[in-house]
Amino acid sequence: MPNTGKGVLVLYTGGTVGMRQGPQGLVPASVDEVFGQLPASLLSGQNAPTWRSLENPLDSSDLQPEHWQQMAGILAESYEHFEGFVVLHGTDTMAYTASALSFMLQGLSKPVVLTGSQLPLGHRRTDAVHHLNSALEFAMAQKDNGEPRLQEVCLYFHNKVYRGNRCRKNQASGFDAFESPNYPALATAGTALRFDEQAMDQGLPTSSLRSLSYRPALDSSIASLRMFPGLNPALVYGLTEQTGVRVLLLEGYGTGNIPPTPALVEALRAFVIKGGRVVALSQCVGGFVDLERYRSGRQLLDLGAIPGRDITFEAALTKSMHLLANPSSASGDPDHDFAERFGQSLVGEISLGSENDPNDA
Ligand code: ASP
Repeated sequence: MPNTGKGVLVLYTGGTVGMRQGPQGLVPASVDEVFGQLPASLLSGQNAPTWRSLENPLDSSDLQPEHWQQMAGILAESYEHFEGFVVLHGTDTMAYTASALSFMLQGLSKPVVLTGSQLPLGHRRTDAVHHLNSALEFAMAQKDNGEPRLQEVCLYFHNKVYRGNRCRKNQASGFDAFESPNYPALATAGTALRFDEQAMDQGLPTSSLRSLSYRPALDSSIASLRMFPGLNPALVYGLTEQTGVRVLLLEGYGTGNIPPTPALVEALRAFVIKGGRVVALSQCVGGFVDLERYRSGRQLLDLGAIPGRDITFEAALTKSMHLLANPSSASGDPDHDFAERFGQSLVGEISLGSENDPNDA
């Protein structure tokens, strides 16, 4: 379907990109202050975007799920009026927002490109202008038939477009601040824009079936626990009893393993018996969770843990929030429903087979 709307909407949410020095460090500037630092081409002229801002731009480390809902709401209400969207965002939680938006705005047939920068717009060596200009080009890129090239939530940084729910911030200060450890980049920006057609298609509905399904509900009753030698099993009770927590994201070792400490296994089992869900993730950045490989992983399977396969922590968190708040009415069993849907690719966030594992060489 050729694109309906015209031009690109830029949604400014805050982040280093628009920050200025305050008495106690960098703070987000208003969108008007940001305008004062932008090249004229980004404010007027034929391809100049339309701008909107969150009411109170934020350091992205201040972001909460309600801010994702504000962003998703603005994007959904503007969806028909623009050909693409750029979200200017802080880098600290950009991968969380990209993941959350991908579940809240399913069935996209237009691009939503998040970007930001490591140095503010006003800095002489800023990466912000390049990122914003490239993100705009990607948001406007069309196929010969007028369809948008990118039709999902993406993240642009340092010459690469990533699937938004596959990336993570991996550099606190370097310019090349993001990676997508288990999924190829969707596109690259050299002197020309290059697209990886296979990576863009995989995991998404076929393009003729794409139509926006806006799902703003989120339930943040989630906790996470990272395994470490010496972990006190009582921490599991502390995290899950009388806290309202419904999903525990367990970051195990390697392929998802945990020590066979009886008290730890019993604490996890007690949580599952009371209706909690344990999602098994790995502290490793690349590769797959495989709970059948070692006895120390299988004990998790036996107690009903859900293997997170190659999903990122950011996507596992936001997918859990989304699934808890949007139970499907199909099977009358919410536990089964959560486990089954967690294992499915909703928007390309998880690989279903390990045969494509780029790290398994
Ligand atoms: N603290 C900033 C933020 O995430 C960092 C950045 O944008 O690079 O908003």
